[in-house]
Amino acid sequence: MSDFFQQFSRRKFLLTAGLSATAALLKGCLGNPPEPGNSQTQSTVRSVANTNPEQAPETTKVKLGYIPIVEAAPLIIAKEKGFFAKYGMTDVELSKQASWGSARDNVEIGSAGGGIDGGQWQMPMPHLITEGLITKGNQKIPMYVLCQLITHGNGIAIANKHQGKGISLRLAAAKSLFTQLKSTTPFTAAFTFPHVNQDLWIRYWLAAGGIDPDKDVKLLTVPSAQTVANMKTGTMDAFSTGDPWPYRIVKDKIGFMAALTAEIWKNHPEEYFAMRADWVDKHPKATKALLKGIMEAQQWLDNFDNRKQAAEILGARNYFNLPAQILAEPYQGKYDMGDGRTIDDKSMAAYYWKDEKGSVSYPYKSHDLWFIVENVRWGFLPQDYIANNAAKAKELINKVNREDLWREAAKEAGIATADIPTSTSRGIEEFFDGTKFNPEKPEEYLRSLKIKRVSL
Ligand code: CA
Repeated sequence: MSDFFQQFSRRKFLLTAGLSATAALLKGCLGNPPEPGNSQTQSTVRSVANTNPEQAPETTKVKLGYIPIVEAAPLIIAKEKGFFAKYGMTDVELSKQASWGSARDNVEIGSAGGGIDGGQWQMPMPHLITEGLITKGNQKIPMYVLCQLITHGNGIAIANKHQGKGISLRLAAAKSLFTQLKSTTPFTAAFTFPHVNQDLWIRYWLAAGGIDPDKDVKLLTVPSAQTVANMKTGTMDAFSTGDPWPYRIVKDKIGFMAALTAEIWKNHPEEYFAMRADWVDKHPKATKALLKGIMEAQQWLDNFDNRKQAAEILGARNYFNLPAQILAEPYQGKYDMGDGRTIDDKSMAAYYWKDEKGSVSYPYKSHDLWFIVENVRWGFLPQDYIANNAAKAKELINKVNREDLWREAAKEAGIATADIPTSTSRGIEEFFDGTKFNPEKPEEYLRSLKIKRVSL
């Protein structure tokens, strides 16, 4: 395995080694909080974190942005269940963002300017913002990726007028439909922000079915909250976004679901928690306190007995403002796909802490690399990012991905060693069409793809 994936940088290694010793010492003192009436199984809200002065956050205040989709759940649950407060972050403001573009604009100005310090992101938005590729005046705003928020929970919805025309996970039977539409009104598909997850899922799915996303269809950006309305009025044939929106399409009988992202790539990377680097550099302990709160929320969310309550908290008017039932069924891995197909499989549900492949929360560098490679595939990023075995992409990832802070926070929170990955790579990934992504050989992956905007 390459240095990029196997070794942690010397700076980070020394820091981690020092902290492990401290954490080991502290664990002896803190493992069994001597608080009267506070058993370990009880709600942890009132427990000990504040009593460790070495881990006390530099500030209790932060402003985090979120988009009302299931990806935001760890942030909302950490606030509502008191997990942020438990680690000293008593003044976390969650700020609902109207669109991904607003989130980008707000992180550019930071909370001091009335914006946000960080929050929920599609990938690789933190890398693109760091490089100044999607900011105003191409200003470089360094950001750090701190943890993954979720896997699964996303899907591709199709308007009902296309029922029975072969549009499903595999598109072989629908190819002639796309060709026919191309000469009249091209099939129109939307995502919520260009060059990131939702755009990449829809492109991957179309291209795997032999449909060229740049030549055979029309793609455009629409904020997730508007996707339902646009499909209702017939201006959109398909869209890709997080629950509850695709599932809502089915419940409201506007459309059906062609595919869950869990079907396109089982246990795929999805959205992440990332913050402005200047905020993290100034508040490293507060950053880890936030991480510990998120980790605890992620574990709470992965207990399926808690999911009914989670759906109620998220559905509330100040968050998603919709009936909890729309969230509750997918949360158990139950999807009525709306075309006669049903899925009832817990392994297809959203996971926040752990899935079949290991940690969900830990931000694997190999996943950052896939998002960047996919940007190169579609010509969004220049090819030099992947030259010399992706040296430029790896340099950027090493700057942005702070898996070292995740490890430190996990150790301080007493997370079991078995739940802390030992490599920054999750290894070879496989997609539904049999394509494999070997993070050690990104060019090989690109070469294997028939439809792309890059020549190798
Ligand atoms: Ca998403």
